[in-house]
Amino acid sequence: MNILLLGSGGREHALAWKLAQSPRVDTLYAAPGNPGIAQSARLVTLDATDHGAVAAFCAEKAIDLVVIGPEAPLVDGLGDSLRAKGIAVFGPDKAPAQLEGSKGFTKDLCARANIPTAGYVRTTSLEQARAALPKFGLPVVIKADGLAAGKGVIIAETAEQADAALADMFGGGFGAAGAEVVLEEFMTGEEASFFALTDGHAILPFGSAQDHKRVSDGDTGPNTGGMGAYSPARVLTPELEAQVMDRIVRPTVETLAAEGIPYSGVLYAGLMLTAEGPKLIEYNARFGDPECQVLMMRFAGDLAELLLAVATGRLADCGSVALADECALTVVMAANGYPGTPEKGGTIEGIEAVSGAHVQIFHAGTAEQDGRLVANGGRVLNVTATGSSIAEAQARAYAAVDGIDFPTGFCRRDIGWREVEREGR
Ligand code: ATP
Repeated sequence: MNILLLGSGGREHALAWKLAQSPRVDTLYAAPGNPGIAQSARLVTLDATDHGAVAAFCAEKAIDLVVIGPEAPLVDGLGDSLRAKGIAVFGPDKAPAQLEGSKGFTKDLCARANIPTAGYVRTTSLEQARAALPKFGLPVVIKADGLAAGKGVIIAETAEQADAALADMFGGGFGAAGAEVVLEEFMTGEEASFFALTDGHAILPFGSAQDHKRVSDGDTGPNTGGMGAYSPARVLTPELEAQVMDRIVRPTVETLAAEGIPYSGVLYAGLMLTAEGPKLIEYNARFGDPECQVLMMRFAGDLAELLLAVATGRLADCGSVALADECALTVVMAANGYPGTPEKGGTIEGIEAVSGAHVQIFHAGTAEQDGRLVANGGRVLNVTATGSSIAEAQARAYAAVDGIDFPTGFCRRDIGWREVEREGR
């Protein structure tokens, strides 16, 4: 089969690497891709916002499956446009992708389906939000409704902070994403991510992960897109996973199907493991980045076949997802300045020498300049390793990091610390 993969990050490099291993794949195209993806796929220039151009490319190249990596094209309805032309797509249509595109949509769905989550109020004006604020204790969580690249959530410790955050959001600080604001009760517990594939009816769990969002060691400093991740998240025990499937994922899939907007693709549930059990923080409509990198390291099956089964409504025939027992951990190497303005153009050397049976380097913001690999974005490389424990995967990943020469880059030195500590007990 021929596949078109859309995206350019570390997530898409990991997907391309796995897809290319499938004996069923004839040609894998990627747009726009990156220099790492180019090792597994043929890069093409395509504008994902031009749905007609993507559909025309699919017709010309006899594409059997389009895999949409990031959220923006999903929320923009690229899936709908391609399906309307009879093209199989991995990733939900626009209406069910609101699970990621609108926090208010997800909260209302949770209320209808009785899914455990934080109490909330949706507001569309500053006055309304100010009036709702006293219903919540402190801290209170304030969220821009729409996509805000992980920056649209403010945890206000004081009433003054809450008021300032509301004024900022309704004042246009978050663009269209802040036209509606959701106020939420603050939940406490450990966070974990859970992934499931669904074709709208059948559901297959696709493992768990934990990530590190803060830029600096000890989970300090500003938030980022993610500085590292590991899988499995053992804090999500088999019992808790069963609860997540029964109380959160299955009711979500069933409710959307019953309401005529079935969800097809990967459901990424951000969870808070509270004293009362797992509660949903948020849904994403695509694989996480960098969680996808660790999941792909553990995935032992034929990814092309599995994603095609999801896209064509045949997931029930697939049995279960083949995830290896081993652990995987990824360390993000970022360019100096990230998450502010990253320094571009710094050279990167030594990647081939550190790659091997247990280590893969997934490219994110890289570019080729005069035959040399250089940094071209905030998060640049995902140094990813497997091991029989998180500690072993961590040791291998950092040994590889130390072998890479990237003088204008940095990384956290403690990815996986919580799990390594647990393993040592
Ligand atoms: P991202 O895309 O980066 O995952 P997002 O902007 O979609 O983030 P959320 O995942 O909803 O936003 O929230 C970001 C973070 O804020 C969560 O990972 C969690 O740490 C914290 N958070 C969100 N909601 C709550 C809540 N109700 N109680 C406590 N913490 C919360």
